[in-house]
Amino acid sequence: MKTFRLLAATALALAAVPLAAQSAATFSPQRLSQHVQTLGSDAFEGRGPATNGETKTIAYLSEQFAAAGLQPGGDMVDGKRLWTQAVPLLKSEWQGAPQASLDIAGKATPLTQGAEIALRAPVNGDKGLSIDGAPLVFVGYGVKAPERNWDDFKGEDLRGKILVMLVNDPDFEGGEGNFGGKAMTYYGRWTYKYEEGARQGAKGVLVIHETDPASYGWATVKNSNTNVMFDIVRKDPAAEHPPLEAWIQRDLAAQLFAASGTSFEAMKAAAKRKDFRPVPLKATLDLHGAANTEVITSHNVLGIVPGAKYPDETVIYTAHWDHLGIGQPDAKGDRIYNGAIDNGTGLAQLIEQGRSFAKGQRPQRSVVFMAVTAEEKGLLGSEYYAANPIYPAAKTAGVINTDVLGVLGPTRDFTVRGNQKFGLLDMLVEEAAKRGRRYTPDPHPETGGFFRSDHFTLAKVGIPALSFGSGQDLVTGGVPRAEAWAKNYTTNMYHQPADEYSPAWDFSGIVKDAELLHAVGWRLANSRDWPNWSSDSEFRAARDASAAERGEAAPKKGERG
Ligand SMILES: [Zn+2]
Repeated sequence: MKTFRLLAATALALAAVPLAAQSAATFSPQRLSQHVQTLGSDAFEGRGPATNGETKTIAYLSEQFAAAGLQPGGDMVDGKRLWTQAVPLLKSEWQGAPQASLDIAGKATPLTQGAEIALRAPVNGDKGLSIDGAPLVFVGYGVKAPERNWDDFKGEDLRGKILVMLVNDPDFEGGEGNFGGKAMTYYGRWTYKYEEGARQGAKGVLVIHETDPASYGWATVKNSNTNVMFDIVRKDPAAEHPPLEAWIQRDLAAQLFAASGTSFEAMKAAAKRKDFRPVPLKATLDLHGAANTEVITSHNVLGIVPGAKYPDETVIYTAHWDHLGIGQPDAKGDRIYNGAIDNGTGLAQLIEQGRSFAKGQRPQRSVVFMAVTAEEKGLLGSEYYAANPIYPAAKTAGVINTDVLGVLGPTRDFTVRGNQKFGLLDMLVEEAAKRGRRYTPDPHPETGGFFRSDHFTLAKVGIPALSFGSGQDLVTGGVPRAEAWAKNYTTNMYHQPADEYSPAWDFSGIVKDAELLHAVGWRLANSRDWPNWSSDSEFRAARDASAAERGEAAPKKGERG
């Protein structure tokens, strides 16, 4: 688990910092509760990016950060930092349903948006799509993972082609791959599939929907891919997005394979093998559609406690401030998606964590508190920050994200999203053990929860980053009470207008969570250590690439941080 290097660095940090300073952090359940109540109130209109709700939220967070004793940590304007970082977002929406059809072995097959296919409005910078007779090629899982010795493309020229791919990663259903079995690596996530398609120079990517490997049904695919699309404004959007990004139903894929003289089962079996090569299909695609695109501006909110000794090195706490805004009414006619739990609870922790660092002894490294925008639109505020970091990624020692915390009181455990192994998690496990809390691993890593909150976009550029979860083993009521709550929350509150503040909520558990997360951040901020990803992690290479900037020796292969 722990290398000698990390233990040695920890011992040094402990020697340099009086023990009393470490236990100074105290958190007020009243303050935590007040933030959740305010941010989740109807006055904040569900905190939609680039709405009146954003204006109110940003004003509240800036005021609270200032009152907590933080300094502004956002964009530099005229030599002074603002509380905010401007986040330009590209918004794209089809003007009416796009017209799509396949020529399958000479037979014209019209496709209906939302039925056989879910076509995403383009975010590659184009104002529409016009594709005529583009050939389809099946590329297995569409994965190129040098560190796992896997390449589905085998160097073939796929420029201008439409790539048909399976969702999840090559060993989800067994086979020769080494992708953590049922657990999903980033190579299994649909966002990766589109990015890899762009790298291959493809005209488009069609991800084949199957319920188990996707972890959700076609209704979810349809609902979240045929409406308004958002992306960060990128310098070179075509480098990340092929012109066409879509999902297709499994039945349509089976039809394509049958017309090409093979079958769905045979193609999947081939895709599970290391020697898989792209298979041209007897089909071409025609597609025409116009899109309305515009750029809107939202904001991340940042406060900082500058480091006493190493101000250019940072530890960052994050929580997304946005929720779904005002939308379709529920059965009671309520149209405001308050997002009190998601993510008023994470924000409350963020503000109070800022206070605890600002009021205590100055840490050696800087500690940054960042409330990010547009998480609900695809982790966009954090992705924009990762692409435009105010504090260099190479010298960011770690990120601690909170997205939904528990309101049923203290637990005997905690969790983090995903099943990645990394030094920052080791630190959290150790600090939790000192407080009598044990680590319960994510029970469903196959659903790709790791890739569904803001720590992930920062992990992608190599920064060790985790999303903390409050745990399920409640001191009062144990796992059964937590499970009953979670079931009700998922069914009746999650992403619904009913995610509203209740005076019955118990914030004493978030107090414990904040104390624990304080201990981890404090330890990292007063350490010379740079915890890393495990050697088999897909994020290790990105971190190792910047080792020299941290003054670290070139990493030895197989060394675990
Ligand atoms: Zn959330």
